[in-house]
Amino acid sequence: MQRRTFLTTASLGSLGFVFPAPIFNEVMTVTGPISANRMGITLPHEHITTDFTGAEKVIQPQYDTQSAVQGIYPYLKRLHDLGCRTLFECTPNYIGRDVLLLQKLSEVSGINIITNTGYYAAANFKYLPKHFYEESVVQLAQRWIKEWEEGIDGTGIRPGFIKIGVNKAPLSADEKKLVDAAALTHLKTGLTIAIHTGDGKAADQELSWLMERGVAPEAMIWVHAQNDKDEGAHLSALARKGVWISLDGINAKPRQLKRYLYQLQSMRMDGLLNKVLISHDDGWAVKAEEVAGEKRVQLDLFKNGNTVPYHTIFDKLIPNLFSWGFTRKDIKQIMVKNPRKAYTIRVRKL
Ligand SMILES: [Zn+2]
Repeated sequence: MQRRTFLTTASLGSLGFVFPAPIFNEVMTVTGPISANRMGITLPHEHITTDFTGAEKVIQPQYDTQSAVQGIYPYLKRLHDLGCRTLFECTPNYIGRDVLLLQKLSEVSGINIITNTGYYAAANFKYLPKHFYEESVVQLAQRWIKEWEEGIDGTGIRPGFIKIGVNKAPLSADEKKLVDAAALTHLKTGLTIAIHTGDGKAADQELSWLMERGVAPEAMIWVHAQNDKDEGAHLSALARKGVWISLDGINAKPRQLKRYLYQLQSMRMDGLLNKVLISHDDGWAVKAEEVAGEKRVQLDLFKNGNTVPYHTIFDKLIPNLFSWGFTRKDIKQIMVKNPRKAYTIRVRKL
């Protein structure tokens, strides 16, 4: 249907304003705080644009914002038409987090978009800035807390959750530093911690480190839990402790889709549908190259099994869930109630 790739050329300036402080039981979107009750149908783990060049290698964004808005808007419009009202954008700083683009897209599409604070150590530490290694846990947390208190890079746009990424177990001292900084940030701000996690053993390590710092399991989202290999027992075990289980790579490949259906069925049979989050992990990646001496930047859709972003859950997964015996109440639990509960900010310390 629509073009999957589009070209863009330059960069943009910035705005400067601060939104009112959030209050109890709200979520923080890129256009300010809203009542958690207004989130509606929510995709809790997606991306808009990402730039995988590596930390501190190029000035981001490399694309022209207006072109990006024009290219991406039709997909968000269709998502809005499908009934979705809220999208959590999980691209961390140094992988192309672009809060002004998110704000623009939220304004034109009517979809609440939430951005994040935190760093990403997965993919072999390629996306960590130099200061990560030089600073203490407290200093890192202070940077993230400052984004919450003052807004991101002078835009006034605040993060609505913490997003970090780690590799497979055993996790390193640097990965522990990241988890510890997330814990301190959470304790100060109330923001939920979503952790891109390499495997189930790493999830266990994260949870124990968070709990040592006094963070409740309910404040942790195990991102990419679908990659766990033990047929669901591990997912259920951590869900029983309170951790949110994020099955977030839902795609249209039939075998993959079936795997998600089995995982959801297993959680349902264990009475744990109230701990599951589902998303596509869709989005675009920057591709920059020199063509005849000229820099050419385009945004390519992730090659993750979905040829149209943000739709497979609505077009394919939900109809399948109904035929597997899931009820409307179950779907509402997964797509409305769970994201609301997982991401509501319950502590205010501004
Ligand atoms: Zn992701």
